[in-house]
Amino acid sequence: MKSNPTNLLRTSIRELKPYSSARSLYTGKTGVFLDANENPYGVYNRYPDPLQIELKERLCEIKGGEIDQLFVGNGSDEVIDTVLRLFCEPRQDKVLTFTPTYGMYKVSTQIHGVELIEIPLTTDFQIDCDELQSYFKDEHLKLIFLCSPNNPTANSMDSKSIEFILNHFKGIVLIDEAYIDFSDKESWLKRLDSYPNLIISQTLSKAWGMAGLRLGLAYASKNIIGYFNAIKPPYNVSSLNQETALKLLENTHVFQNQLKEIKSEKQRMFNALKMVDCVKTIYPSDSNFILIEVENAQEVYKKLLAKHIVIRNRENDVANCLRITVGTALENTLLITALKTYSNV
Ligand SMILES: *Cc1c(COP(=O)(O)O)cnc(C)c1O
Repeated sequence: MKSNPTNLLRTSIRELKPYSSARSLYTGKTGVFLDANENPYGVYNRYPDPLQIELKERLCEIKGGEIDQLFVGNGSDEVIDTVLRLFCEPRQDKVLTFTPTYGMYKVSTQIHGVELIEIPLTTDFQIDCDELQSYFKDEHLKLIFLCSPNNPTANSMDSKSIEFILNHFKGIVLIDEAYIDFSDKESWLKRLDSYPNLIISQTLSKAWGMAGLRLGLAYASKNIIGYFNAIKPPYNVSSLNQETALKLLENTHVFQNQLKEIKSEKQRMFNALKMVDCVKTIYPSDSNFILIEVENAQEVYKKLLAKHIVIRNRENDVANCLRITVGTALENTLLITALKTYSNV
């Protein structure tokens, strides 16, 4: 049923002979470095480790997996872009996703000139697998983007549906787990070895609090990660970013405590939002944000903005819906108070 990922590659990539950078030819830490035309003086004068080995070792200690099954990119954006560059032939191949979902899938496929098939989620924001089989027959459908927990709906996809797709689709499946740390559901990382065409993307931008560093992760078979490494810009993550991330990852208690706080604040917001008149529906959340339905999304959005409280109006994706990130206790209280004031006028 499965195609070998190598056979799914773009033709130009199958024929590619990758650039070999000075720092990937010689990996020793000490030596007389006269190979990369660097300035011999200074602090950041040397090119960074192209494969970010120390950072990957630390990430594997924390999250599991092996370093040759891990790619580190300049944000998840680079992961999404790289997958499209590897597997999708412009003006020929297609990608499928389930809407509403993360906007970058559409933007990236458009940039690459690749058609995006958008299958609506059911009313409870789940995947309707019956509808899918007919699409799987299309040999140009190379890739499925599946976001779980999903942005902006906040819920996780049913694991049975994900399993169905992994078992029946012969192309590449990318599961975007940007919000997995907020969820009680298990990551698909443990199942990586069972599915040679599975790519899991995660990020240090959300639960790990490093959005400013731009560090996105992709886990896949050694084979697929080898292709990622072959086509990435040689020095895609700066020394500054690698060092800073390593430093921040020294103490994981900090993040565990923040996670606990965010989860308990989310529960408090749920309870508080139930008491707010203008809130019609509060959708269940496996992430660090809450999707709510109101009567007039744009009006509520603007009223909050006037108080310098910025949330996301998602009414173009889900009718009358607003997306609220869980902030600090004080920020959340300000939001709830503002919503209550709005409801009472
Ligand atoms: C926020 C988010 C990301 C993270 O993107 P980065 O480029 O790593 O900051 C990825 N996927 C989804 C669905 C997100 O909401």
